Formats: sequence, structure tokens, C-alpha cells
Amino acid sequence: MFLSVVIPIYNEKDNIPLLHQKLLEALAVVTKPWEVIFANDGSRDGSEDLLKAICTADPRFRLITFRRNFGQTAAMEAGFRHASGEVVVPMDADLQNDPSDIPMLLGVLDEGFDVAKGWRKHRQDKALSRKLPSRIANAIISRVTGVQLHDYGCTLSAYRREIISEIRLYGEMHRFIPAYAAWAGGRIKEVPVQHHPRTLGKTKYGLSRTFRVILDLMTVRFLVAYSSKPNYLFGKWGLLALGGGTLSFLWAIAKKLIWGGPMFTDPFFYAAIFLGLAGLQILLIGLLAELNVRTYYESRGRTPYVIRERLGLPPAPEKD
Ligand code: UDP
Ligand code: MG
Repeated sequence: MFLSVVIPIYNEKDNIPLLHQKLLEALAVVTKPWEVIFANDGSRDGSEDLLKAICTADPRFRLITFRRNFGQTAAMEAGFRHASGEVVVPMDADLQNDPSDIPMLLGVLDEGFDVAKGWRKHRQDKALSRKLPSRIANAIISRVTGVQLHDYGCTLSAYRREIISEIRLYGEMHRFIPAYAAWAGGRIKEVPVQHHPRTLGKTKYGLSRTFRVILDLMTVRFLVAYSSKPNYLFGKWGLLALGGGTLSFLWAIAKKLIWGGPMFTDPFFYAAIFLGLAGLQILLIGLLAELNVRTYYESRGRTPYVIRERLGLPPAPEKD
């Protein structure tokens, strides 16, 4: 299998017939074997029957149906896990993304990139409620992840499968795939793609998504920077707090010895207590996090590094 197109679908009955037709047109130029995986995220509007009809008539179209609505990220994750193509292309079902861009994205991977990231350069959504928050979010995400991109929110992109097979997605995290890819050493090229206004069906999101994205960003940042050595983060602050506490304590004692007077009126005395306790707690949390990380990597035979290529070496045995 060369290409897997993964499409999350939640109540998109009106878009499905045209989507199907446009996919067939776009993929007609792809000469290598392809599949389309519809990830039906618990639709209740009859989308399922339409999708079933498509998939029974043409085995290149495949379907996963969730028992209930689990969210776009979960649908994409399920699609990725079932994908067998060397290249995986996620896209929205609502025809805001255009399937006719797929060959162009594949061309970018041929240039030697691992990720061709779609960029809705002329985005057709509401300015104030969608484009502005998205601009701000993109700036923040770029800053925090250190991976500068214009449009983290664009689903349409092309990934080499080995890049995404290691990533597990939760919450709103599908948008951080390019950041993960870059951190794992993947080469990314941003390419402008078409974007159309939504003509049929309704958007499933509002402004509240922005908050979830920001929270997920914190998680992602933590996981990537410290997931194999959490104690480097906790330990640093724990030691700083303990050190500050010790200095405050010594200073409070010295003041008492030099000038006398009651200690419980001295702010340094309280600082010593707070910092000492806080420091101990943070250090202990760091150690617990280290234990968790050991379980995470070692129970699953995972490694804290990512290999791109081996020459003259078979894969190392997972476990003994
Ligand atoms: N979607 C989904 N599950 C959800 C919400 C959305 O599978 O809970 C799908 C939806 O059907 C569409 C894509 O995710 O294919 C993007 O959703 P939408 O167009 O509503 O988002 P927007 O383009 O407005 O950001
Ligand atoms: Mg949309």
C-alpha cells in the first residue's frame, strides 16, 4: 500500500457524496495502490449508511465506526492505526480541504520531506471568531514548540507513516503532529493548500477549543522536553526551592543571633518553612515521575530515542 487517506467524519451526511466523487477524481492520478479510511466518529445523521454503501461497493474505501462520538483526534488516531500506506494523508470530510491537493502534497514528500504540512493561506472562515484566535494560537504554538508554522490547525497534510506511527494522540493533539515530527528529526515543508467555505453541514467547534488547545500544548511541551527525564524539570525547581529555603533559614537564624527578637515575625523564617516543604514535595514528585517513565518505556519495550535508518544491522531485540 502506498497511500492511506484518513478522514474523520461526524455528521457530514450532506458532504459525503461529493467528497467521495472528489476523492475518486483526485486519486485517479495516483498510480500506486491507495486506500481511503473513513473514521466515522459516532455520526447519528445517516452518514454511516452512505459510508457503508461506498465501502461495500469499492474495497479501496474502508470504514471504522465508533460506538459514540469520541472527537476528531480520536477518529484520526483510529484511522492512523489502521492505515497501511507508506504515506498517510489526513483531511476533513466537509470539503473545506480539497482532495485535489493530495497529489501536490505527495510531490513534496518525493522531494525528500517527511511531512508536507498544509497551510490554509486563504482561509475561508469567520475572521473574528475563527481566524484571529487561530492566528494567536499558531504564534503561541510555534513559540512553545520551537517549530515555526503558519497553520497548525489545517488537517490536510501528508506524513510518512513511520513519523506518525510512534505518536499517540489525545485530546486536541492531532494538530501537534508536525511538532512531534520535527522533534523526532523529521523534515517538514509547509505548503499552501486550497480552502473553501463550509457550504453543507455545520462546524463542530467554537471558541472553547482554543483553551483546550493551549492546555494540550502544555502537556505536549512537557512530554517532549522532559518525558524521558522528568526529574530534570522537577528536580531543578525542587533543588532551587530547597536551596532558597536553606538560605532563608540561615539568614533568619543569623538575624536572630545578631539582633535578637522573636523569630515568628521574620518573613525569612516563613519563607524557609514554605520553600523547604515545597522543595521536598517537588523533588518527590520528580522521583515519582521518573518511576512512571521507567514503567512507560520499559514495559512496552520502547526506547527514548528514534532511529531513522539502520545499515547492516537488524532491529535490536525489543526485550530479553
Ligand atoms: N469531526 C469529527 N468528530 C468531532 C468533530 C469533528 O470527526 O467530534 C470531523 C468533522 O466531521 C470534519 C473534521 O472533523 O470532517 C473537522 O471538523 P469541522 O469542519 O467541524 O471543524 P472546523 O473546520 O470548523 O475547524
Ligand atoms: Mg471544517
